[in-house]
Amino acid sequence: MAERTAVSKQEIYDAVEAREDDIVEFLREFVAIDTENPPGRNYREGAEFLGEAMADRGYDTETIEVPDDVVAEHYPDRTDHERVNVLGRKSGDADSEGERDDDGPHVHFTGHFDVVPAGEDWTYDPYDPVVEDGRLYGRGSSDMKSGIAASLFAVDALEAAGVDLRGSVTQSMTVDEETGGFTGLGHLVDEGYISPENTDYCVYTECFDSSRICLGHRGVLKFHVTARGEKAHGCMAHDGANAVMAMNDFLTRVGEYEDELHERTTDLPVTPAESRNADISATMVDAGYSENVIPDRCRATFYRVLVPGETVESAREEIRDLMDAAESATGHGFDYEEIMFAEPASVPEDCEVGRAYTDNILDFYDETDPVVSPGSDDQRFVVNDAGIEECIVYGPGLLDQAHVVDEYVPIEEVVTAAKVMAASTADLMGVTE
Ligand SMILES: [Zn+2]
Repeated sequence: MAERTAVSKQEIYDAVEAREDDIVEFLREFVAIDTENPPGRNYREGAEFLGEAMADRGYDTETIEVPDDVVAEHYPDRTDHERVNVLGRKSGDADSEGERDDDGPHVHFTGHFDVVPAGEDWTYDPYDPVVEDGRLYGRGSSDMKSGIAASLFAVDALEAAGVDLRGSVTQSMTVDEETGGFTGLGHLVDEGYISPENTDYCVYTECFDSSRICLGHRGVLKFHVTARGEKAHGCMAHDGANAVMAMNDFLTRVGEYEDELHERTTDLPVTPAESRNADISATMVDAGYSENVIPDRCRATFYRVLVPGETVESAREEIRDLMDAAESATGHGFDYEEIMFAEPASVPEDCEVGRAYTDNILDFYDETDPVVSPGSDDQRFVVNDAGIEECIVYGPGLLDQAHVVDEYVPIEEVVTAAKVMAASTADLMGVTE
């Protein structure tokens, strides 16, 4: 193995700082590409922009298009546009004999470049980013194009500071996170682009604030339950079977179940603390034709939140039990239709990648506490499906800026996160003094 020259943290931090203008310039161009999802706009343009950015930096890049049948399997109603992901890999530098140091560690940064629809009422143009008072405004500035910018420039800075990359650095940028991630990071994991064989440490660069790492997230199960009945005229209701009243029985059971779920708590640092339990909410109800018709169907929609330790299959079973009970009590039939699920995920606080990031965050903040997200995100594919426990979420951007009107990211946030990413990568590669 070639001799390595140790590099100081300060040299790495200075190299990131020297790139601040370039980071802003990159983000201006990147945020200007409208990658709204839904519907899933301009994915190819986004992937090309990122692929070129990586090719310019010497990464071996690959465009990963998702085959139609895979898209149809996950999104049967949304097969109308192409899903284009991109991945770049950079191996350890060659030593004086031309030998590449490729034994590791292998570090993988991943982020999503789709954004939620901008919607109305913006003061700024969501796709013509401006910088004002140290903030860059635009859709996706926090969630999470700045995370992608931070990891790209972090690696640039490492190299500029004279760090020989050991092992490899891989960066992947994916689509469809905002609608479940199955054809984005989920697909990359399914296809083996991220596996224990090629990845030692993974950092998902979603916006959780540069001051803390995120260790996992709660899970979710979204579904409809439909009560069946029989239509009749309102003046001869005895001829029908009222699906609304049958649903009333089911909803009452869901209310009791909700109380039970609130007692099902987790010790993990889910933030906000009010979210440290399982939950279920009825979010939509749809039934009826006219004020004089007994309804033959009533459909309610539910949002079930799972804490780490629960599984989607166990949640499904509990729902089925509630349906069975309502069926015997009312004599009505009930149907279940699933919309989407995401298993909860979490990794131990003392994993190596978590410790490296925590140490370096403390160069910029007096204290830091890890969090677990109340929602769900793409981290689950890496942790649960690829089976990689050395995977944390760390990225710039403010969680309360995700999905809002006039979304912005403080430039300082992006710079700080890039510094932490660069220093932590160097630590994981064992090249810092
Ligand atoms: Zn996001």
